[in-house]
Amino acid sequence: MAKDYRQHRREPGPIVEPICLPQPTNAASVLRTLTMGRSPSWNVKTPMDTDVLHRPLRDVRLSVTDRCNFRCGYCMPREHFGHDHEFLGREHLLTFEEMTTLVKGLLPMGLEKVRITGGEPLLRRDLTSLIRMIRTLCSTLDLALTTNGSLLAQHAVELKSAGLNRVTVSLDAVDNDLFQELADNTQFNASDVMNGIRTALDAGLQVKVNTVVKGGENESQILPIAKAMSGLDVPLRFIEFMDVGNTNAWSLDHVVSGKEIRSTLEQHFGELHPLPPHHTGEVARRFQTTSNQEFGFIESVTRPFCGDCSRLRLSANGTMYTCLFASEGHELKPMLRMGASCEDITEAVRAVWSRRRDRYSMDRAEGQSTKQKVEMSFIGG
Ligand code: SAM
Ligand code: SF4
Ligand code: SF4
Repeated sequence: MAKDYRQHRREPGPIVEPICLPQPTNAASVLRTLTMGRSPSWNVKTPMDTDVLHRPLRDVRLSVTDRCNFRCGYCMPREHFGHDHEFLGREHLLTFEEMTTLVKGLLPMGLEKVRITGGEPLLRRDLTSLIRMIRTLCSTLDLALTTNGSLLAQHAVELKSAGLNRVTVSLDAVDNDLFQELADNTQFNASDVMNGIRTALDAGLQVKVNTVVKGGENESQILPIAKAMSGLDVPLRFIEFMDVGNTNAWSLDHVVSGKEIRSTLEQHFGELHPLPPHHTGEVARRFQTTSNQEFGFIESVTRPFCGDCSRLRLSANGTMYTCLFASEGHELKPMLRMGASCEDITEAVRAVWSRRRDRYSMDRAEGQSTKQKVEMSFIGG
């Protein structure tokens, strides 16, 4: 069986299914493969809608492209994602109609939130149309976008009017030289991202900023970014450098823990007070200063949070992954291109989700994780 690690290759080969039946010839037979012959129960919430560890599916991360205009060393290091890297061809990308069918198929499972990501999602042409199409499905879905912010200023207003609720902007340095060094890019400045944040706020979008802190690279930026965000009243979340993919030369030595970052912040802002989570499964532990500035900490390495993980990921070519650190996924594109209905999608996802037992970060903490993993820029952060 060929494995689909999707590291630096073009379109992945056939996906590895946990159950192997003869090659399907139409959507119905793909569905039978995934559901192992169980009868469909679309629109009916059953105990099957939780996984083996009793976690519901509440959140989908939809990657709309595997391309990016940055080359952050922790995500797409240029030596692995250079000129000769073959990205997905246009014909392999899901269309917006196919993505919308997928999202519609997830609604009966209790989906509450869709996050559009990538690669850099704002590189996908006419992304606003996708936002509008998903918003039309459901007025109460929480619809968010994660972006490096380089192109946000020019799109923020139209994204908001199409129905986007929230945007998370990644920013690892406000010092421009360091910003460009970390993004391995000279086309954009840190001020472009700051402009994007301000324009998004002015447009009425809720904005958060994410900063990955990597030891030996940008600890110096913890306080400058925090101060820049306090001026804008934007919640800032610090992310521990994670061992996603296989190309970023991850080592524990480069992880700056949430605890260390809090202690740096406390030297300037005084004691940080914990805040209760907004909801079960919230990835960031939230704190605030005495003057109510909010900081979050995504401590995947030092405080894994798999126990509440309710996230499904869909790569830009329509493969679903049940964990950020997955090495295998389940292709949905063939079903979609053979005319699968939303009901078929519900059943297919339900079948996979009901067998899910991922808990990579907890296994890592217990020293049990050595497998090959899919790349973050492919699976969507
Ligand atoms: N290009 C967009 C961006 O940068 O926001 C969206 C995709 S990016 C893969 C999503 C998030 O993943 C970003 O906040 C990025 O900082 C984070 N990320 C990527 N690689 C990471 C790593 N090795 N450790 C921690 N966070 C990482
Ligand atoms: Fe691009 Fe985002 Fe990855 Fe940086 S983190 S290389 S901006 S996809
Ligand atoms: Fe979820 Fe996998 Fe991350 Fe655990 S390691 S929180 S299961 S994505």
